[in-house]
Amino acid sequence: MLDDDALNNYRTAGSIAAKIRGEAKKIVKEGTPLIKICETLEKKIISDGGKPAFPLNISVNDVAAHYTSPPDDTTRIPSKALVKVDIGVHVNGFIADTASTVSVGKVGLELIKASELALENALKFIKHGVKSSQIGEIIEKTIKEFGFKPISNLTGHLLDQYNLHAGKSIPNVKTIIGFTLKEGEVYAMEPFSTTGAGIVEDSKYSYIFRLASQKTSDQFLSYITHQFRTLPFASRWLSPKFSKKRVQEFIKKYVLTGTIQAYPVLVERERGVVSQAEHTFIVKKNGCEVTSA
Ligand code: MN
Ligand code: MN
Repeated sequence: MLDDDALNNYRTAGSIAAKIRGEAKKIVKEGTPLIKICETLEKKIISDGGKPAFPLNISVNDVAAHYTSPPDDTTRIPSKALVKVDIGVHVNGFIADTASTVSVGKVGLELIKASELALENALKFIKHGVKSSQIGEIIEKTIKEFGFKPISNLTGHLLDQYNLHAGKSIPNVKTIIGFTLKEGEVYAMEPFSTTGAGIVEDSKYSYIFRLASQKTSDQFLSYITHQFRTLPFASRWLSPKFSKKRVQEFIKKYVLTGTIQAYPVLVERERGVVSQAEHTFIVKKNGCEVTSA
């Protein structure tokens, strides 16, 4: 069960994240450099009293998730695009994880509705004792009614202090096995709808990383431990402290040894367009409290 401090921190993180989501809608426009959006919103998280729980994810069209600007990114928002902005805020390690999709050039409006309604329908169903498989079923059914597919290999996840994926996953499709949600647990739920196959795959690019093992240490790893603990970070975030060349060398070396985990940019298998909606909620006896509303 959550103590008062944890609860307050979750709520503060949630309200900051909700505000940033609103800001994102204003600045995602044709021609805006992605790196400007990342840096602006990450700075705003800090000036609002939180810290980024992970790099701002800004994933365009068939990119489903895990894109953040690399250093010197020159990519801009295209004239027609579905732009998923996924925001992580933590306060003393208590995380809010929320996302919404912005349509640029009026494309994909039905796809956005599908993911939003799936999230809404599933949230209405949450209370102590519900089964994860039933949540997946609601999400799948809602998205399929629009004629789209849910992405089956992306999931929601249990949250814990300084832990973004604390072991349990909320599916976006009906599953055979599962678990029961319990009062006091905190989860992120994130339906994805697509015009494609409903499966994402790794691209060859990674711009987000995480410390996965603390068996060795050096100046680089102790900086990461001190700054981010085991939360995800962007290669971009290390540039003021280390040269870009050194960052690349360190990351290459430590990904190979398993000390650092890379999160490859995820793309839809059939290059279908993807929409995402996400909220963080606390499970209550007779419902849930959405912290990022
Ligand atoms: Mn997210
Ligand atoms: Mn999430």
